[in-house]
This record gives sequence, structure tokens and C-alpha cells, in this order.
Amino acid sequence: MTSPMLLPPLSASQPLPCPLCGSPTLAELPLMEAASCRTCEHIFTPTCDRTALELADAEVPLTWVWCRGRWQRQWRGLPAVTWLYLPLALGFVSLPTSIVAAGAYWFPPLPGSALAWLPQVWIGLTAIAHLACVLWLCLEAYQFPLWLYLEALSRRWRRQWRYFRTAP
Ligand SMILES: [Zn+2]
Repeated sequence: MTSPMLLPPLSASQPLPCPLCGSPTLAELPLMEAASCRTCEHIFTPTCDRTALELADAEVPLTWVWCRGRWQRQWRGLPAVTWLYLPLALGFVSLPTSIVAAGAYWFPPLPGSALAWLPQVWIGLTAIAHLACVLWLCLEAYQFPLWLYLEALSRRWRRQWRYFRTAP
């Protein structure tokens, strides 16, 4: 792990890469101790000691430090995720799915009935729903800004699409 350095100077004339979307459009806001990205339109503020940059306009408290010419996400209060959680997550997904599958195996639908497809679909839905719970817990534990990330990505694609449409 590299030690964080002081933030590079934020200026309007020399934009920095945005820590959230990666576009080189992070510039200082005039008369403010803040910077904004022209691509994802988020506002960032430096911390008091000027070693980190915080996302100011979102509920998720995201922080980046400047290391060796690029932004590095600073994890605060990261839960101690151990390998113990892996079998728990596998059990959380596989146990309910196995129970539903066992029910479908021991009490199969009548062959040729209208809802003969339902047990297989129900087994799949059970697995997908429990897997989604596990993935959501992982995103929450690591405070990964999925919506902000997707939002920034879609803005970037829309800008590129507009650029290619208007380019001669
Ligand atoms: Zn951005």
C-alpha cells in the first residue's frame, strides 16, 4: 500500500481525471473549495488536511486519495470480511434452493399438466433471489457505489454517442 500524498492542485485550466467516472474533466469550481466533473456532474471537496477528495453530493461517503498520479479509493471502516463468510453465503444460496428442489423432486407435478414447468422456474427464482441478496450485502459491505458508477457510465456513453453523431 502506498502512502497518500497531498492532493494535486485543482484548477479550471488543468483538469484532473475524475475519481468516479475516470474522465479527465475534474476541474475546480470558481470561488469554491470544491471541484466538479463535467462528465458525471458530481461535486467533490478536499478534506481539511488536503490528503483526500470526498464525494460531496451523494449519500454514500466515498473518499479517494491521490497516489502516484491516479486516484485510489480510500476504504473507511471496511468490515473484516473473512473466508468464513464464503461458506455462509454458499449455504444461504444453496439451502433454500435445495429445499425447493427436494420438494419438486419428491412431489413432482403431474406429467402433461399446465403448470409442469413451475417447479424448475421456482427453483431458478429461489437461487437468483438468494444470490441477489448475497450480492447486495457485498455491495453494501464494501460501499460500492453501483448506481453512481452506472450513472457515470451511462453519461459517458451518451456523451460519446452525441460526439460520434455530430462528428463529420
Ligand atoms: Zn466524473
